[in-house]
Amino acid sequence: MGRSDAEREEHAALLAERARLLAERDRLRDELADRFDDFGDSPEEIARQLEQQAADNPAERAQYLTEAAGHWGMADNLERALRLYRAAVADGGPVVGDARVWYATFLLDHGTDLTDNAEQTGLALLETVLAEGTDDYVAYLTAAEMFEERGEFDEALRWLDAGLARQVTLADNADSESDLDLQELAMTRSRIRDALGLPEDSIDRAAEEGRQQWLDQVIGGRSGAAHPSVTSVLYWPESEFAVALKRWPTLREQYETHEEHQRLVERALRDLPSAARIAVATVAGLIDYAEFIGEDPDLAHTRAEYAAELAETGNVVVWPPGRNEPCWCGSGRKYKKCCGRPLND
Ligand SMILES: [Zn+2]
Repeated sequence: MGRSDAEREEHAALLAERARLLAERDRLRDELADRFDDFGDSPEEIARQLEQQAADNPAERAQYLTEAAGHWGMADNLERALRLYRAAVADGGPVVGDARVWYATFLLDHGTDLTDNAEQTGLALLETVLAEGTDDYVAYLTAAEMFEERGEFDEALRWLDAGLARQVTLADNADSESDLDLQELAMTRSRIRDALGLPEDSIDRAAEEGRQQWLDQVIGGRSGAAHPSVTSVLYWPESEFAVALKRWPTLREQYETHEEHQRLVERALRDLPSAARIAVATVAGLIDYAEFIGEDPDLAHTRAEYAAELAETGNVVVWPPGRNEPCWCGSGRKYKKCCGRPLND
């Protein structure tokens, strides 16, 4: 496509910056995990609990074994992780994201530390899953993100294209949930295409449009252009939610249940680029604020401005909490057992 040297240089600089940010993200995650390990269970303890749950719940055995394997991996007990991943695959029961994909990414992450042919085995497993196809978008996303972290963007893109094609065929009897799955695949695909220096295509444009619309309207709480660096998502605690829903019809169109609201907030937070915060809304607070600025509280943009105002005045919760910390939603459960679970649990 005849790029100039300047463009190539700029692109290389962007890739370097992206690698630096990914490394920084991993470092912060590790630091957070270490910090909260002091308060909660160690990965080893969690792994043992999950193994027990696998034994107690035959129908969900494969899911629990896969999660236990992940925690053994975190605890650096690679041998035990390997054994449990194999048991989960052999079990054949349902696993969010497909047990074979989790097993394969584990093999590829650890390579020759595990076995001489870990890499070939992992890649072969992934090809099998890709050839078979699955309705579970998490499988495509997980494989793609693994290849992304390895810098193999072409492979990542192949997975995302396949996942999108599959999800589009599912979208006929679409609920809002599968729309969001599509959206997440499309946004990740845009990021990868960007890394490959590919020009924006119609899916990229639809993904960006969808993201804006979704954040602006469904969540109704993205801070406006005046404060672009801090992004806050409005959250209605359960006690306020019921009252707010009765009062404002447009909220009712967005969410039917508090659980759905919680899931969408968590999802928005995971999709936001950085510095995500949760603005905790109250009915009285929104009424006051709307009156103050002379706007209708039943408009998405009024609520977005209210969220920005809460962020501005420090009335926010920083996200994410540590996995073993109390969840941001106020349920009293640990984050990892509450809103921090895989989203299509
Ligand atoms: Zn929660």
